[in-house]
Amino acid sequence: MASIEMRNIVKQYGDGFPAVNDVSLDIADGEFMILVGPSGCGKSTLLRMIVGLEDITSGDMVIGGKRVNDLAPRDRNLSMVFQNYALYPHMTVYENIAFPLRLSKTPDDEIRRRVTEASDVLELKDHLERKPANLSGGQRQRVAMGRAIVRQAEAFLFDEPLSNLDAKLRGQMRTEISRLQRRLGITTVYVTHDQTEAMTLGDRVCVLRKGKIQQVASPRELYEQP
Ligand code: ADP
Ligand code: ADP
Repeated sequence: MASIEMRNIVKQYGDGFPAVNDVSLDIADGEFMILVGPSGCGKSTLLRMIVGLEDITSGDMVIGGKRVNDLAPRDRNLSMVFQNYALYPHMTVYENIAFPLRLSKTPDDEIRRRVTEASDVLELKDHLERKPANLSGGQRQRVAMGRAIVRQAEAFLFDEPLSNLDAKLRGQMRTEISRLQRRLGITTVYVTHDQTEAMTLGDRVCVLRKGKIQQVASPRELYEQP
């Protein structure tokens, strides 16, 4: 687990207006931080700079006390869960969850132990031999989360993970994400458009607008009218 500190982060694509414009934000170890704001305000760009998928134009990204600007994604030990799950269709649930551990050459018995533990927590035990095509949306989302948790990463990054699910499943997954995050106590940054998600999941909510932080507040301060 690790804190995430952003110091004067700027992202400039080409010569236009900066997509992220001098953002400084401290996310505490174990904190659940929500990023909200209108489309195009820089949420995904910020997330991709944390995980290392996007170069930082200027500023410092410090994770667990270490400056990571020049570290490749695989050297940052973070787990990102995407909106479209990004599962491998030809692999079983077991192999999808195990995949990051195979990449890092984890021994087989350790892989089995961690995949079993993750599938237990996520109630996927009965589905380990299935392929993603034979799963429901909620189950696929759980596989994506399983893949994120087996890595024992220092932080979770979510980019609108529930926006492709129907309302009922969204409610269920919201509860599961909340339970999982609290159980693991893992630092989390979560992008959403959904106010209910922001209110129920977040310790704090950061509101972005045109690449700048407009406000950082508790969900309560932000959404409850006086
Ligand atoms: P959000 O996630 O809040 O919708 P983004 O981070 O996707 O916002 O985008 C922020 C701004 O940066 C937008 O103006 C978007 O068009 C621009 N942008 C995002 N990615 C790229 C890219 N790869 N190349 C050029 N401009 C980009
Ligand atoms: P979001 O869902 O965050 O609003 P978009 O759907 O706008 O993001 O963008 C999807 C992809 O297109 C992202 O990878 C983003 O980097 C890229 N992108 C967004 N805006 C631009 C742009 N102006 N030029 C090039 N790529 C862009």
